[in-house]
Amino acid sequence: KAAINPSLDGKTGTFTLETGVPMFGDDELKPGEVIVQVDWISVDPAMRGWLNPTRSYVPPVAIGATMRAAGVGRVVRLAEGDKGELAVGDWVVGTLNWTQYAKVPVKEVQKIQVDSTISPTLYLGALGMTGQTAYWGLHDVAQIQPGDTVVVTGAAGAVGSIACQLAKLHGCRVVAIAGGEAKCKWLKDELLPEDQHVVLDYKSADFKKNFRDVGYVDKVFENVGGEILDLILTRLNKYARIALCGAIADYQSAQPKGLQMYLTLISQSATIQGFIVFNYSQKYHVAAEEMAKHIRSGALKVRETRTEGIDQCVNALVGLFSGANTGKSLVKIGDE
Ligand code: NDP
Repeated sequence: KAAINPSLDGKTGTFTLETGVPMFGDDELKPGEVIVQVDWISVDPAMRGWLNPTRSYVPPVAIGATMRAAGVGRVVRLAEGDKGELAVGDWVVGTLNWTQYAKVPVKEVQKIQVDSTISPTLYLGALGMTGQTAYWGLHDVAQIQPGDTVVVTGAAGAVGSIACQLAKLHGCRVVAIAGGEAKCKWLKDELLPEDQHVVLDYKSADFKKNFRDVGYVDKVFENVGGEILDLILTRLNKYARIALCGAIADYQSAQPKGLQMYLTLISQSATIQGFIVFNYSQKYHVAAEEMAKHIRSGALKVRETRTEGIDQCVNALVGLFSGANTGKSLVKIGDE
């Protein structure tokens, strides 16, 4: 399908909503399995790609299967006699999917610590994959250095808003690109108020001119791809590095147009490198500690766009492609 049809009628839509399904099936929990009551679900652009039957970093979601999604929730049942690492009531994060109750192997979820400053949803955002993506994309792939001019696209989104702040905290000059006045105002007023940082609205008529006025750039954290990346390619400094994190502008196209201006990679001896956050799984603790420190100190601001109800999962996913979210998009599944 070229685009997701959000109808849940079971006939025309891409998804159906099943109710009255026995909570855990008839089978008993096997040793090492737990039942988790899902509380919040993460809504990620990558989920669109998981619906395509193509080679990727994870297999596509099979037709008829429950939609894959990261989530946080609480353990409500353990296998009989199981006295492992988890107890009933523990908060966990993992691939819990679009469901109210998930049966998962203990090894595939991670216990999380929740307190008055660290809410469970942060483990889907700044303290989870989102924050890890921003951190490793900037530090390992783009290799940002203090004094660099760093462009961040999709800057008001989940990853982008964290990337902007991490680059700033590292002593870089940030050029943030987002769509629409409200998002740009939030970025400028709340996240990047210092004079040296620039926020640009790619939907405004003068965007291209304003971007050229910024001068040449050293590092790029690219979330969007397409025409915006093409424009950025024309403004690279020598040895510029582009961390190709995502290309949301092309996720719904059956045949993305491709880049026109890639020859500047040659003339500027520049590097463009794609990456997947899972490449860094052995080092997640490094970024998680830094993120937690910045959140507790108030140096890192987090915004969430929250939707309620499992029947809103599809709309929230579709909403990513029309810019409905600012910061991290989340759906509340549990009723507490
Ligand atoms: P976002 O919160 O950024 O959500 C999507 C946002 O993208 C929208 O709010 C919208 O913002 C913008 N957008 C949508 N369509 C377009 C378009 N056609 N042109 C320009 N902007 C568009 O999502 P995430 O922060 O979760 O993800 C950001 C990117 O990072 C995605 O590409 C995602 O796939 C990628 N990613 C990659 C990972 C990796 O391991 N490589 C891991 C996690 C994410 P606006 O209103 O400003 O247009």
